[in-house]
Amino acid sequence: MERTCGNAELSLKDVGKKVVLVGWCAKKRNLGGLTFIDLRDRSGIIQITVREGVEIPDVRSEYVIQVFGTVNKKDVPNKNLKTGEIEVIASKIILINKAETTPIIIDDKTDALEDTRLKYRYLDLRRPVMQGYLIKRAKIVQAVHEYLDNNGFIEVETPILTLSTPEGARDYLVPSRVHHGKFYALPQSPQMFKQLLMIAGFERYYQVARCFRDEDLRADRQPDFTQIDMEMSFMDQDQVLTMMEGLLKNIFKKVNNVDIKLPLRRMEYLEAMSKYGSDKPDTRFELYLHDIKEYVKNSAFKAFSDNKYVKAVIIPNYADKVSRKVTDELSLEMKKFSLPGIIALKVVDNKLDGSVVKFLDENTQNVLLKELALKNNDIVFIAASDSFSDICFGLGAIRSRYARELSLIKENTYDLLWVVHWPLFEMSKETGKITSSHHPFTRPCDEDLKYLASEPLKVFSQAYDIVINGYEAGGGSMRIYNQDTQKEIFKILGLSDEDVKRRFGFFIDAFKYGTPPHAGIAFGLDRLSMILNGTNNIRDVIAFPKNLNAVCPMSGAPEIVDQEQIDDLGISINKE
Ligand code: ASP
Repeated sequence: MERTCGNAELSLKDVGKKVVLVGWCAKKRNLGGLTFIDLRDRSGIIQITVREGVEIPDVRSEYVIQVFGTVNKKDVPNKNLKTGEIEVIASKIILINKAETTPIIIDDKTDALEDTRLKYRYLDLRRPVMQGYLIKRAKIVQAVHEYLDNNGFIEVETPILTLSTPEGARDYLVPSRVHHGKFYALPQSPQMFKQLLMIAGFERYYQVARCFRDEDLRADRQPDFTQIDMEMSFMDQDQVLTMMEGLLKNIFKKVNNVDIKLPLRRMEYLEAMSKYGSDKPDTRFELYLHDIKEYVKNSAFKAFSDNKYVKAVIIPNYADKVSRKVTDELSLEMKKFSLPGIIALKVVDNKLDGSVVKFLDENTQNVLLKELALKNNDIVFIAASDSFSDICFGLGAIRSRYARELSLIKENTYDLLWVVHWPLFEMSKETGKITSSHHPFTRPCDEDLKYLASEPLKVFSQAYDIVINGYEAGGGSMRIYNQDTQKEIFKILGLSDEDVKRRFGFFIDAFKYGTPPHAGIAFGLDRLSMILNGTNNIRDVIAFPKNLNAVCPMSGAPEIVDQEQIDDLGISINKE
């Protein structure tokens, strides 16, 4: 089709040029003898001016047209358009295709409900802001290819129909037609395959990999998502992190022209939890959790004397803004973190004030005032618990809430750091069973191996997460490369020899044949795209996402299928 360039590629330097443009009619105005059409294509919008005497076909919103004309300098520039200094004076307009009235307005600003936008996603994606998100996402992938190709990584695809990968989520299962009663699992990640590629000798692997996890959805989660998945042999943790920092630097520079300073900060998991109340700390603002057990351990208040941990977060000069209703609300919110509630102390006339104060002797009150450097109108939120993670996460939520409320978070900054040295295992609240904090292939720290059999919860691991602005943007670990240690980990996780053989037999077997020390990581492409696009909705950066009910409102997936198809699979549906 005849076309000379994209609309928004034109500028003042093209004045006088004859052009042929194509696109959608974004707007049409008729002013006496003059007609103006805003013509939109992927590059942007340009104003087409049609003078009297030039024949205009019936052009309405979202009609597809072709315009022949000449670039002209506008007398009065339109500051709202990138091409606002010019216009194209049309000599001929051809109607290519008509359009019905669209159910959503094709404009950056929309008040359409998200389900309507998802139902008509192809129209939603016609909005320039949405195209911008996906274009930036594509640039990230480009920057990834560029860096990894230059650094000796080989791109390899791994199967989608496979066995379960233990990443801690529920699997999507695919029944086999050929082998009734047997199921493939969609990969939660290519974890085992990429390790096998290391055993195979590829040394450096990567893949822009689709992964599937059947989890409850949140704003930053989708059932199918994309990881930039990598694995490396013969590198220690420092070398891996340095290699990954180079990748992040390339992405930020190429995509957003931001120079990130290397090396990135490396924070121990325990510090992140204890000081920031999060395993993905947002360090863009200075509000910290304080350990105050030492100061209150002898108080008459049982919650303080009996619990292993007592921690506080101070919101400076804010006591007069926090009503009883708010503290009650916060107390209720703490239940989510298995904490009984929150205690609020205010500083009034240089003294502590609050219902718990009567249980604190004068000395304790003074110690708190002094050690926490409290000032008038400060408010201190205190929690007590025997669980380190509950108390940290609970107070961390309060820390984040007030950071938002007080606008403490510096906008347009990127805060990147590594969180390292994680516990190898954790106790699942749901099942009461020991589970891997990362996944079962993560290498324990050498110095903790002695506790593996007797006190596994004491063992730390050589795992690392990359955190950007409080989001977990990626994570990985040094891997176990010894068959016996791997078997032992499976045993600790409660897997019987039979389970191990059935689920991981092929994998463990491979370790016999000369396994190089190796390590890997995966970045969440969707999350990176969110962060670099400055949106907090993961669906904005995925072309055809599911809604929070894991449904695609456009295609209707998941859908019922023909009985014949079900019969073919040898399964039956429980109708209840
Ligand atoms: N497979 C891991 C994940 O999906 C990443 C890794 O350890 O490389 O989180």
